[in-house]
Amino acid sequence: MKLGSIEAGGTKFVLAVGNENFECVKRVQIPTTSPDETIQKTIAFFKENPVDSLGIGSFGPIDINKKHETYGFITSTPKVGWKNVDLLGQLKMALQIPMAFTTDVNASAYGEMMATNESSLVYFTIGTGIGGGAVQEGHFIGGVSHAEMGHQLVKRHAQDLDFAGVCPYHQDCLEGLAAGPSVKARTGIAGEDLPADHPVWDIQAYYIAQAAMNATLTLAPAKIVFGGGVMAKEGMLVRVQKEFVKLLNAYVALPTNVEEYLVLPVIADNGSATEGNFRLAKNELK
Ligand code: ZN
Repeated sequence: MKLGSIEAGGTKFVLAVGNENFECVKRVQIPTTSPDETIQKTIAFFKENPVDSLGIGSFGPIDINKKHETYGFITSTPKVGWKNVDLLGQLKMALQIPMAFTTDVNASAYGEMMATNESSLVYFTIGTGIGGGAVQEGHFIGGVSHAEMGHQLVKRHAQDLDFAGVCPYHQDCLEGLAAGPSVKARTGIAGEDLPADHPVWDIQAYYIAQAAMNATLTLAPAKIVFGGGVMAKEGMLVRVQKEFVKLLNAYVALPTNVEEYLVLPVIADNGSATEGNFRLAKNELK
């Protein structure tokens, strides 16, 4: 059995082939350019490397409601040229195999949930943008659409009251205040070049901890996993854990200690979405 994964991101598409044990046997990255070029390259890869089914985790917003005529479309994205693109339809037409379609963060949440043997899990990516996916007993949280936890509202840090925020839709939502570009907007220095002891990381951690608190209070997951470049910064997870404990103030009991509750991905090399996609692809064959 061969399983395929497409992690469709705003800057790159990661295409992978896995075996039935969800081990990656081939993996390539292509830059996200125009929809036509990117989708044609994706189709060419899977014609050269045939798979039995495919899991797709995409940037969004996307339409995941199978009853809609626009099911499988990337919908209202601010990414130039990608609005109202029928991603799934073009792939299905060309490849004619079963496909699962969800958000990139849902795919990551699913991969991490299965890999950690939990029954529920929330996954946040804190990078160029912020997204959150949630899965409970194998089902993704959502009704008419998928969750958009990256754009939740957060309380301002006392030392951050004058910063406008960088979200083009809401300015100072979570993504506007805590995604990677907000670091550069505040300091003039890109996050990867900013020292790990710079005070702006405490401000970032304050917002990320609020997202974790909101997820805890609204979804009560067994675990919250943080991926993405901002969380890869040295010491960031510990800052978030400390802020989270302060904010929550022991109002609810956690399923475990905070070090095991707020964690980085267990799947190495940013592979959470790929493994999740393999597993979702396999489910399509049942
Ligand atoms: Zn926003």
